[in-house]
Amino acid sequence: MNCKETEKMIPIFLTNKLNSRQLDQFLEHVENCPDCMEELTIQYLVMIGTSLIEEGQSFDLRKALNGLLTEARYMVKKWKILTFLSYIAEIITFIVMIIILIMVIFV
Ligand SMILES: [Zn+2]
Repeated sequence: MNCKETEKMIPIFLTNKLNSRQLDQFLEHVENCPDCMEELTIQYLVMIGTSLIEEGQSFDLRKALNGLLTEARYMVKKWKILTFLSYIAEIITFIVMIIILIMVIFV
C-alpha cells in the first residue's frame, strides 16, 4: 500500500469501516510512514477531536489516537489468529477425509 492509497483510507479507518485485511495493510503503512501518521493525526483531530472538544470533554489527542491504533492492532491480531485457526480446521478436515477414504478403500 502506498501513501496515496493510505491517505484515501484514513477517513474510512476513522469511521471504523476498513475490513481486517485493509486494516492490517493500513496499520502496517501508517506505523512505518511518518507522513501518513501525521496526516492521520490531523484528520483524527479534525473528525473526532473537535466534536469531543465541543462536548466539553478534556482531550489528549496523542493518547486517544494511540488508543485507537492499539485497538485496531488488537483487532488485526484477533483476525489473524482466527484466519490461522480456520486454516488449521481446514487441514484437519482434509486429513480426516483422506483417512476415511483410505479406510473405505483398504479396510
Ligand atoms: Zn505513507
